[in-house]
Amino acid sequence: MEVFGSSGVRGVVGEDLTPTFVLRVATAAGTVWEAERAAVARDTRHTGGMLADAAAAGLARVGSDVDRLGVVPTPAAQLYAERSGIPVVVITASHNPPEYNGVKLVGNDGIELSIAALERIEGRLAGAAAGARWDAVGERRTVEGVGRRYIEAVCGAVDRERIADAALTVALDPGHGAGALTSPELLRELGCRVLTVNAHPDGHFPGRDPEPVPEHLGDLRRLVRTSEADLGVAHDGDADRAIFVDERGEYIEGDATFAALAAAELGRGDTVVSAVTASQRLVDLTERVGATLERIPVGSTRIISRVRELDAAGESVPIAGEGNGGVLFPAYRLARDGAYAAARFLELVAERPASEVVGRFAGYHNVRTTVGYEDDAERAAILAAAERHAASSSGELDATDGYRLDFGDAWVLARASGTEPLVRVYAEAREKARAGGLAEEMRAALEAGRDEE
Ligand code: MG
Repeated sequence: MEVFGSSGVRGVVGEDLTPTFVLRVATAAGTVWEAERAAVARDTRHTGGMLADAAAAGLARVGSDVDRLGVVPTPAAQLYAERSGIPVVVITASHNPPEYNGVKLVGNDGIELSIAALERIEGRLAGAAAGARWDAVGERRTVEGVGRRYIEAVCGAVDRERIADAALTVALDPGHGAGALTSPELLRELGCRVLTVNAHPDGHFPGRDPEPVPEHLGDLRRLVRTSEADLGVAHDGDADRAIFVDERGEYIEGDATFAALAAAELGRGDTVVSAVTASQRLVDLTERVGATLERIPVGSTRIISRVRELDAAGESVPIAGEGNGGVLFPAYRLARDGAYAAARFLELVAERPASEVVGRFAGYHNVRTTVGYEDDAERAAILAAAERHAASSSGELDATDGYRLDFGDAWVLARASGTEPLVRVYAEAREKARAGGLAEEMRAALEAGRDEE
């Protein structure tokens, strides 16, 4: 897939991503779908209205009537697709900075399109689309209440009584994204007392960047401490992810959350699907309970495709996802869902403090760094340096996606980002200095390779 990367199409609006291009993508998707009706949804980004108009025009042009869902979380758009049996074009750049936007395509089953389906659409991008005759182009209508129906679906699918009985206080930071329109109400309906920060939808993201990483969550951590909340919850721009802060105001690593949620789900013989960035915590957990960990290339599209394959083969996959807060519970829905994940985590916090829920998975240190590049030649030089570094290392190499070296007590990975001009370096160990050292060795090798180019 050239156009659709690991998480759909993304780019800086006006530079890499234009309304003309979004119109072409929607036209190609509409041509392949041949749907009488399709929908368009978006997150809060400033450019979202313009690009949603372009997507709607592309769909109408090839004869699909268009439901305009407005600003809703991606999982709410997916629920609408599933219930209405129609495909959806979602305009979102998820966690990327405000100047970015993108396109995510959801099938009429509410699931992100498979790689094969995306390739069919990519194949139609180059050719000229035959638009419908003037009297056969699609009509549009505005659909309201999509967020409301999503809130009801999530509340109905979790142990609301258990959460409500614990009388929890939750501090919420939707980061000015689409979750600002649903998560406050949803958490209140679960019986929580809710305090918010950065909770008005604003495509300029004045309070914080859409990515829920520690350096952006100072406000939330302070709110947890000053309000004596039991849990802090943060979303990314389209609210398909949730990241947590414990009752002491400490950031909880996404890997620790994923491991804690997985520990509550996994039994002997189950499989958990995760990316090559999978934490040692998950390795240790799956060994302990007799489950299998499948590591596959990074990206929600690939994880979903693999879960579908395993499901078709009769394997039990109760949980899948990545340590970035994007978790899937396939028995519920094959979609990452920030509010549902938060509610499932609240079920655990109803029993014991958040710091104890993840306590068994503490004591690991993750280090992440990046090496930027200007052009394809520099990118190639960096990846060649990573390959040389891997060949000279004593670690066991996994080249599923990038170069991962496992050392038993620690691991390091270098892989090119699917959405930004960066090579990301990840390392994890029980000792902070060990993780830092492995990341630094890799980073230095990559930079030396780039600068020699
Ligand atoms: Mg997202």
